[in-house]
Amino acid sequence: MANLGIPRNTIEVLQKYHFNFQKKYGQNFLVDTRVLDRIIGAARITGEDCVLEIGPGIGTMTQYLAERAGEVVAVEIDKNLIPILEETLSAYGNVTLINQDILKMDLKGLAEERGKLLKVVANLPYYITTPIIMGLFENHVPLENVTVMVQKEVAERMQAGPGTKDYGALSLAVQYYAKPEIVANVPPNCFIPRPNVGSAVVRLSRYKTPPVPVENEARMFALIRAAFNQRRKTLANSLTNAQELGISKERIGQALERMELPAAVRGEALTLEQFAGLSNLL
Ligand code: SAM
Repeated sequence: MANLGIPRNTIEVLQKYHFNFQKKYGQNFLVDTRVLDRIIGAARITGEDCVLEIGPGIGTMTQYLAERAGEVVAVEIDKNLIPILEETLSAYGNVTLINQDILKMDLKGLAEERGKLLKVVANLPYYITTPIIMGLFENHVPLENVTVMVQKEVAERMQAGPGTKDYGALSLAVQYYAKPEIVANVPPNCFIPRPNVGSAVVRLSRYKTPPVPVENEARMFALIRAAFNQRRKTLANSLTNAQELGISKERIGQALERMELPAAVRGEALTLEQFAGLSNLL
């Protein structure tokens, strides 16, 4: 089968099947062999691995994955792509194709059946990047790493540290579960059709144990969400205004004092460790 990372091969397949792109599914197919090599290299795939690919499209990256992994499970929502994938992947005996919405799948079960940590690799549909990634982490799907193409801006938010404009709830949530590293920036001309924004490949290497001790994860994430909901306010005001937390201004003041933080500190100045500490105190 021809390498679909070469634009003319992708165009040939699309024409053969009279494929119509579905905007609602965030379809931007990758056509750049160097970027494909970078993604596959960053994911550190070996012959022992089971790789979960989210949204294989016409199978461009799936072919690269199938060459290197023990098994590839590719989950595609668009039923019109299934006959195409059956042709483009026909040479590989190690690919399981599933026509499903990734958000409705039992991925924990899928990993447990195989008895190993999954590696997740994907050129993600941008409209559901955050639910997919947070779903993998929050549901504790057994996985080693997640190597994904996302909007450049989202990749930067994942990697951002305290005090920067990109720092927020997504940075803290991702960094609680994994170490994020941007491994490539990818311009719009590497896709058919071209997206309106730049993209980046980010590798999230899952921690075996969280980097900070937290007594109640859900509580810490509720504090983080409240802190960044009203970014311009002081942390004390944001947390008091979030009535669902039920914490008085006085208690927050005492906790900040114990942590030797200024009373007027903003949430965006706190590290993950400090949010964990605050959550444990409150
Ligand atoms: N992997 C292909 C590539 O790199 O050329 C396609 C990437 S494209 C950005 C995203 C793919 O995800 C599309 O094939 C789209 O149909 C699929 N998709 C969108 N939403 C999905 C969902 N909820 N579950 C599974 N696949 C989905």
